Amino acid sequence: MDKQALDFDRAHIWHPYTSMTSPLPVYPVRSAKGVEIRLADGRVLIDGMSSWWAVIHGYNHPVLNQALQQQSEKMAHIMFGGLTHEPAIALSKKLVSLTPERLEKIFLCDSGSVSVEVAIKMALQYQHARGRAQKHRLLTVRGGYHGDTFGAMSVCDPVTGMHSIFTGLLAGQLFAPRPECLFGASWQPEDIAVMADLLARHHPELAAVILEPVVQGAGGMWFYHPEYLRELRTLCDRFDVLLIFDEIATGFGRTGKLFGADHAGVTPDIMCLGKALTGGYLSLAATLTTDEVAATISAGDPGVFMHGPTFMGNPLACAVASASIDLLLAGNWQEKVSQIEEQMARELAPARSLEGVKDVRVLGAIGVVEMEKPVDMAQMQRFFVDRGVWIRPFGRLVYLMPPYIISQRQLARLTSVLLEAVETFNPEP
Ligand SMILES: *Cc1c(COP(=O)(O)O)cnc(C)c1O
Repeated sequence: MDKQALDFDRAHIWHPYTSMTSPLPVYPVRSAKGVEIRLADGRVLIDGMSSWWAVIHGYNHPVLNQALQQQSEKMAHIMFGGLTHEPAIALSKKLVSLTPERLEKIFLCDSGSVSVEVAIKMALQYQHARGRAQKHRLLTVRGGYHGDTFGAMSVCDPVTGMHSIFTGLLAGQLFAPRPECLFGASWQPEDIAVMADLLARHHPELAAVILEPVVQGAGGMWFYHPEYLRELRTLCDRFDVLLIFDEIATGFGRTGKLFGADHAGVTPDIMCLGKALTGGYLSLAATLTTDEVAATISAGDPGVFMHGPTFMGNPLACAVASASIDLLLAGNWQEKVSQIEEQMARELAPARSLEGVKDVRVLGAIGVVEMEKPVDMAQMQRFFVDRGVWIRPFGRLVYLMPPYIISQRQLARLTSVLLEAVETFNPEP
């Protein structure tokens, strides 16, 4: 890529969470295949990020390419109002059958954030339809991330989500502390005490509790005890509050189970899916709910669910999502994810004794090294690219979530370069 193109990018194009006046460097990509990203200058990087949880089967997969091609010859898009099509039906069948029981109704939308908006709206319309319009607030836990649109923002962690900038504009939601009892530790009942107390005191004004089951993603890459979710289910039932699971990051095997909810054996009333849904090919998300929630909304005023994006149920995205799910289920994803888990646990463990490291944790195909202090992102990024790996740290977290198809050798390269980086960028004692 010529310098002019990069200059244009720098001058005109916003990248995620960046400054337009002092942007961090970006690396031009020519193509990607399997677990390898090829830069414009010919360098090849091993992908440790799955493009933010999404590319579980690797890039440029022949089966997914074919699904896209075949569907594009029929139609790339068609409006979903008054029309329907096979790709949407086939995908919805799979999702209804794979997700926890009782999730029978599905709303297909265009991105994770929108699926969270849809979930929130479902909860509000449900309570309104039951004549309980005063139940309009949400309760969540700190350390969460649910997307960048306003409804979703209101339930993101108030500190990392910079709620201070948007005071007065964001809905005022309630926050319980982050679950502290770790995944794999023995359950401490007091972990849910504040949540229980908030529910007991505020349930008359609460529509729903929303949280990411078992793994909090962008809010801190934090793994907590599944018993929290079982207790929360019981509490929500007792206090007549809906339970929403945001599975946008945890869905499709990343945590070692097909869904985060499966660690707890709990069915939420509403569940959001996105990210890996299309194997990282196109933006698509889904919000599922129960017959009861759907029937109540439909019986209330105005008798319809008030949402309908232009690209709802996009056929290309549905076709590639179906193909991605088939690919996942036909393969040995569970074995692959547990191999990745074992290898990362073994190879990242030495980081525990390094200066500046606060914690090392691994669950499923997610490996996290948490530093004491924020890392210099641009510097570390360059260090990784120079060594042929694509790892993108944020804040105090340097982490891996590779495509499930990664080889043992490729993963070993990721973990060894990660350790080297942590050692190199240690703060001076
Ligand atoms: C990424 C993410 C979202 C937002 O999804 P977008 O597709 O980026 O809008 C919401 N919730 C969770 C848990 C996520 O990881």
